Amino acid sequence: AASGGARYLAGLNPEQRDAVETLDGPVLVLAGAGTGKTRVLTTRIAHILSQGRARPGEILSVTFTNKAAREMKTRLAEMLGQAVEGMPWLGTFHSIAGRILRSHAELVQLKSNFTVLDTDDQIRLLKQLLQAENIDDKRWPARMLAGLIDGWKNRGLMPSQVPSGEAAVFGNGKGGKLYASYQERLKILNAADFGDLLLECIRLFRENPDVLRQYQNRFKFILVDEYQDTNVAQYLWLRLLSQAPSSSGSSLPGSTRQSIAASDEDGSPGHDAARRPGDDEKSVAVPGATPPPKNICCVGDDDQSIYGWRGAEVDNILRFEHDFPGAKVIRLERNYRSTGHILAAASHLITHNEGRLGKTLRTEDVEGEKVTVTGAWDSEEEARGIGEEIEELQRKGEHLNDIAILVRASYQMREFEDRFVTLGLPYRVIGGPRFYERAEIRDALAYLRVINSPADDLAFERIVNVPKRGLGDATVQMLHDHARKRRIPLFEAARAVVETDELKPKARGSLRQLVLQFERWRAQREVTPHTELAEIVLDESGYTEMWQKDRSADAAGRLDNLKELIRSMEEFENLHGFLEHISLVMDREGAADEDAVSLMTLHSAKGLEFDNVFLPGWEEGLFPSQRTLDEQGRAGLEEERRLAHVGLTRARRRAKLYFATNRRIHGTWTTTIPSRFLDELPAGSVEITESKGGSGWGGAGGYGPSRFDNVESFGSSYSTPGWQRAQARRPGAARGATEGGFKEEQSPFSGRDPFGGGFGGNFG
Ligand code: ATP
Ligand code: MG
Repeated sequence: AASGGARYLAGLNPEQRDAVETLDGPVLVLAGAGTGKTRVLTTRIAHILSQGRARPGEILSVTFTNKAAREMKTRLAEMLGQAVEGMPWLGTFHSIAGRILRSHAELVQLKSNFTVLDTDDQIRLLKQLLQAENIDDKRWPARMLAGLIDGWKNRGLMPSQVPSGEAAVFGNGKGGKLYASYQERLKILNAADFGDLLLECIRLFRENPDVLRQYQNRFKFILVDEYQDTNVAQYLWLRLLSQAPSSSGSSLPGSTRQSIAASDEDGSPGHDAARRPGDDEKSVAVPGATPPPKNICCVGDDDQSIYGWRGAEVDNILRFEHDFPGAKVIRLERNYRSTGHILAAASHLITHNEGRLGKTLRTEDVEGEKVTVTGAWDSEEEARGIGEEIEELQRKGEHLNDIAILVRASYQMREFEDRFVTLGLPYRVIGGPRFYERAEIRDALAYLRVINSPADDLAFERIVNVPKRGLGDATVQMLHDHARKRRIPLFEAARAVVETDELKPKARGSLRQLVLQFERWRAQREVTPHTELAEIVLDESGYTEMWQKDRSADAAGRLDNLKELIRSMEEFENLHGFLEHISLVMDREGAADEDAVSLMTLHSAKGLEFDNVFLPGWEEGLFPSQRTLDEQGRAGLEEERRLAHVGLTRARRRAKLYFATNRRIHGTWTTTIPSRFLDELPAGSVEITESKGGSGWGGAGGYGPSRFDNVESFGSSYSTPGWQRAQARRPGAARGATEGGFKEEQSPFSGRDPFGGGFGGNFG
């Protein structure tokens, strides 16, 4: 009542307002994209503060990314009309848990200045442990172990809690033991890895009830955004903090315990005690004491759960009412973000998923422009087409900041980055390094740079021992000394040193081989096309093999990136021209406030919104990804579809989908099939357009037939969907059509629904 006139409440709809003003007890806002969930959370904080219900330091507010946390602070300041003091506990799960951990580090055998290891450090440490255990790193790669350990940590499993069957899959049954010794080593090194920030914080709370109680008392309010993507560890951590402080030490409050028991009995959706290691805590309910439920507010959308592959459990959202009895569940149905056609497309697409709660979404916005679908000949034309559309939007007065390109796989970014550099169009990559800054790309470029310029010491040093060839720090130090004394480049020093006996025979042999290899590659440069040379270099140096043998989750992506790198070289006359282009790309580090196009993966786009969203690469095998197509069951495919839904719902006014008929996947040209997701869009909200990047197909641009030597043909049983026929109609597409094995020339859209030619039957 007192808040009736508050400025920040103005404009909220009744349900949003309910979610903001229900401060006492648990609240779950379960609502679709763009309905204002994040806005509700921010307004709720403003409300708590202005009502004097808590001070900034008493509000725990969890966002999915650091960027989202910063944005929330800015909005909050706008709402309150003043900068918010502190809000020290507004951040990601990891940043907040890490902070708590630092304050009590000694209780988990760390010092407060502990270091957080990055993946490389982690791998190095695991390799040492494998060596100590005499486990062959080739057969049992450290990266695979790192992946397993991360997975266990995401599930909140301490070494002693890992099911023995799972621990046995690595190193002839030594997986669990290695995990334990890894944790011990981390303590000795005064270090934690990323997963530890949460896991060790959970252990801290479990083993020190008084510390837990201190935080339970401190946090009067808990707020969580993107609740559908929390994993088990995050869930356990939240549950510990969200219990009302109890004086009985380690026991869980009766209400929480009962709720778990209740869901055990009624078999509520998704409850599976076996998967929840933290649930085995036995508690003794405090007689007669029913602690008041905690003021926790979680917001999420089951249709946007896209991190299942990283251990997120959408079940957490389905369990909320059981975990927090008496929870108020609020649904928001009005979408404030997108125009009618975009929302219709996104909503219709997601109805193809089976396992969903289902919800209505409506907009009072205009219908707006239809979602466009554009076919391009290949990914290069796709990038050119999008580049031109962006320039056209710019001419219409759109800001580049309001334009985003969302890709399924990070290697897709390369084509766009190159195009933008050529066009002089400012861009920024969000949520990851730019293509040419990725570690494997920098390594590969370093080899090429040493070939191009033997005096490039930085490049030489980068790869002298990558892959490992027994040329460690001592050798490099020696080369440095030598080079400095004689004022020559490192490579020259290496050439000189291998003629002496300053190095041990093994290192010397290894270095000599490397020097000889570089000399051979340099000679080859005169007679071999530069793309071929690059392949030779990556093969002969053992670099490609290093990643092929690597069984970590990201190895395949790195190999794809390397292939993409070689492909990107095709556009340049020679190695020198290519490297010069790279230095230009690397050079343009735009200012943070510069007007620039945003480029990111669909995964990093969660929670964001842009006026204009381009969604390239809607093809079977890319999106949905090949892995999910090869998989048994629908789970992976449904997660891909949710990702498509997330992508579409990022758009405010324009959503523009693209597919290319030819794409190089894993280094081979493949004729692709437009994504099934295109067939799942409602015809009435979609418009098929011609690519603006067309190069006249048969003509310019070096499209020699040899380039498509590897084109795979469709089987004759394949029924041509509307999309392919749209392609066949285009000038020059006849060649593609013939090669593709279908000849139909009729206008694809005469008298039939272009979306009706579904091929779900072939893939379903
Ligand atoms: P997502 O699921 O994608 O994270 P969300 O539910 O968090 O979406 P928000 O980002 O909070 O949605 O809101 C989407 C857009 O709608 C924002 O631009 C927000 O400012 C606007 N919006 C939300 N509620 C209202 C309202 N009551 N009046 C006007 N605009 C609103
Ligand atoms: Mg949001």
